[in-house]
Amino acid sequence: MKKMNVESFNLDHTKVVAPYVRLVNITEGKQGDQVYKYDLRFCQPNKEHMEMPALHSLEHLMAENIRNHLKNVLDIGPMGCQTGFYLSVLNNDSFDDIIEALDKTLNDVLNASQVPACNEVQCGWASSHSLEGAQEIARAILSKKSSWSNVFSE
Ligand SMILES: [Zn+2]
Repeated sequence: MKKMNVESFNLDHTKVVAPYVRLVNITEGKQGDQVYKYDLRFCQPNKEHMEMPALHSLEHLMAENIRNHLKNVLDIGPMGCQTGFYLSVLNNDSFDDIIEALDKTLNDVLNASQVPACNEVQCGWASSHSLEGAQEIARAILSKKSSWSNVFSE
């Protein structure tokens, strides 16, 4: 297969086992700063996906809460295929930090009583949310924490 510009287009999505946390790449700037990009795959590709309202609420909850547990979070954003998120972090080479922050963040989701910023001032589609749906996903991912570091079936 031709090598593509986008790293995940070179990943064989039939060979992975979700949920998992995978380091996608490290980008180094001129001053030596390093951006670590992670693939947080919550759903098995082409077998399952998150519904948009649940995915959207999970995005809000994770974006807000992960910053309490991990320094230098640049971005966390959903994949268009609705099977996971990309997380970008500056200058932190610890995989364990990512795992722990994700664990704490998903527990925050379980304990949340509302979705942050789900109103027309702070969000672009405020009517498309589901806290219950987000919590259902978080619960399922947390129950498989022991296998988060296993990306491939072998
Ligand atoms: Zn929103």
